[in-house]
Amino acid sequence: MTNQMKALSKLHPREGLWMVDAPVPEVGPDDVLIKINKTGICGTDIHIWNWDDWAAATVPVPMITGHEFAGEIVELGRNVTDLEIGQRCSGEGHLIGKTSRQSRAGKFHLDPATRGIGVNEQGAFAQYLRLPAFNVVPLPDDIPDEIGAILDPLGNAVHTALSFDLIGEDVLITGAGPIGIMAAAVARHVGARHVVITDVNPDRLALAQQVTDVVAVNVAQEDLGKIVSDLGMKQGFDIGLEMSGNQQALDQMVEAMTMGGRIAMLGIPPGKSPVDWSRIVFKAITIKGVYGREIFETWYKMIAMLQNGLDVSRVITHQFPVDRYAEGFAEMKSGRSGKVVLDWT
Ligand code: NAD
Ligand code: ZN
Repeated sequence: MTNQMKALSKLHPREGLWMVDAPVPEVGPDDVLIKINKTGICGTDIHIWNWDDWAAATVPVPMITGHEFAGEIVELGRNVTDLEIGQRCSGEGHLIGKTSRQSRAGKFHLDPATRGIGVNEQGAFAQYLRLPAFNVVPLPDDIPDEIGAILDPLGNAVHTALSFDLIGEDVLITGAGPIGIMAAAVARHVGARHVVITDVNPDRLALAQQVTDVVAVNVAQEDLGKIVSDLGMKQGFDIGLEMSGNQQALDQMVEAMTMGGRIAMLGIPPGKSPVDWSRIVFKAITIKGVYGREIFETWYKMIAMLQNGLDVSRVITHQFPVDRYAEGFAEMKSGRSGKVVLDWT
C-alpha cells in the first residue's frame, strides 16, 4: 500500500472542496484503518462546501470532510482483537470521550466532549479513514455499500422516529428532506396508522411517495387541517417528528398536535426562533431534542429493521464516481435530490 491517498479537503476558507493527495492516516493501538468504498453527502458537508458562518466558526482548515461511509477494514491497531481485516463496515462518526458522567453511564451519545469526523477530525471523503475500533459497525452481507454509506442519516431518522412509541399512532413529519423521508419509512415499518409528511418543495414530496406509503402535503398550497379531516382523524397528531429546521413548520406542527402530543425535534433552526410556549403548555406537549444516533442502540435497531424489510434504497437518487464530486454537490445543493452517494472504488 502506498502512503498517499486521494481525499476531498476543505483546503481554503472559502466556497468549495478540493481533491488533494494526503498521507494515509496512521492507526493508533485502538484504531482501525478503513478503505472507503462509498460515501454519502450530508447537509453538513454542504454547509462546509458553502463555508457559511457555522462552518467558518467550527471547521479548522485544512480538513478532510465527510462522515457518512461504508468500506472495509485493511489494518488493525495492536489492541484491536474483536475485528478482522476484510470486514465490511460503516461506523459512528461521533468520537466520544469516556470520562464524562454520561459516557460512564453508558449514554455515549450524550457525551459533551463529542467530536465529529469530517468536522473536527479528519473525515471519510478519502480513500482511507482512521477510526477508533469502538466506532466500527460491521455490515452484514445483505446490506450493500450504498446503504452502508447512508446509515448515519438513516440513524438520525431512526433515533428520532423511535423516540416515542409509534404503533397505531398518527404521525406528522415536517420536512421531506432525505431524513424526513426515511423517518416516514421507519414510522410505516413500525406500525404507525397515518403518516403525513409536509414540505414546500414538490420534488421532495414526490420522492417521499416513491420511497414509502405516506400522505405528502405541500403546505405552501394545501391546507393541512383539511387533509387531517379527510383522513378521518378526529383529533390532532399524536406524534410529531420535526425534520425541516424551519420555524413555520414547527409552528404548524404545534398547532396540528393533539392534547398530550409528543414531538421529537431533529431539525436545526438557523438561529433563535420565537415559539408560542402557551400553546405548548395548554396542549401539554412533550418536546424532545434529538442529536445524532444512540451509540449503538440506534445502529442495532436500524440494521435489524433493514434486514426485516425496511427499504430506504430509493432515497438514494444519485450515485457518482468520486471524480465527479462537483456534480454530486451540485445535485445536493439543487434541493431536488434525495441522498447523493460517491463511489471511491
Ligand atoms: P434538508 O434540508 O434536506 O430537508 C429539510 C426539508 O424541509 C427541505 O426539503 C425543505 O424544503 C423543507 N421545508 C422547508 N420549509 C418547510 C416548511 N415550512 N414545512 C415543511 N417543510 C419545510 O435536511 P435533511 O438532511 O433531511 O435534515 C433534516 C434536518 O435535520 C435539517 O434541519 C438538518 O440540519 C437536521 N439534522 C440534525 C441532526 C441532529 O443530530 N440533530 C443530524 C442531521 C441533520
Ligand atoms: Zn450526515
